[in-house]
Amino acid sequence: METLQKLTRRQVDALQAVAAHETASRGVPLGEVAEVLEVSAPSALEHLGALELHGLVSRYRGKTRTTSKGLATLEEYQRHHRVAEAMFGRMGLAPEESCTAAREVDLALTHRTVEQLCEAEGHPEVCPHGETIPHEHRARGRR
Ligand SMILES: [Zn+2]
Ligand SMILES: [Zn+2]
Repeated sequence: METLQKLTRRQVDALQAVAAHETASRGVPLGEVAEVLEVSAPSALEHLGALELHGLVSRYRGKTRTTSKGLATLEEYQRHHRVAEAMFGRMGLAPEESCTAAREVDLALTHRTVEQLCEAEGHPEVCPHGETIPHEHRARGRR
């Protein structure tokens, strides 16, 4: 099973929160992750613990940072999400609706399916919000 398929929505949200709030010199305190996710500290800790088990974050003295695997997984997630958005957008959904619809499927799709969708969509460069769609780089580095 691919890493994304093992993660829950909230775990991906937690991973995104850590990536968005960490700096070169500082990891993210638990309270900050809890605040961003609008959950209690124990729930935030549960999500971070699961991410740590998958090797996506590392925790030290109460601060959390992403690992290189965590960042690569986030990029894969963005690719899944934005390719799905591009497809729903072309089908006529408004950008916000395509985002909601994409969130319903992006974690479940395999990389292979995302590649096929991307191909079918003509390899879009950006999602309906104008954000760049990361390209598959693990296999062949095709554009
Ligand atoms: Zn979106
Ligand atoms: Zn988007």
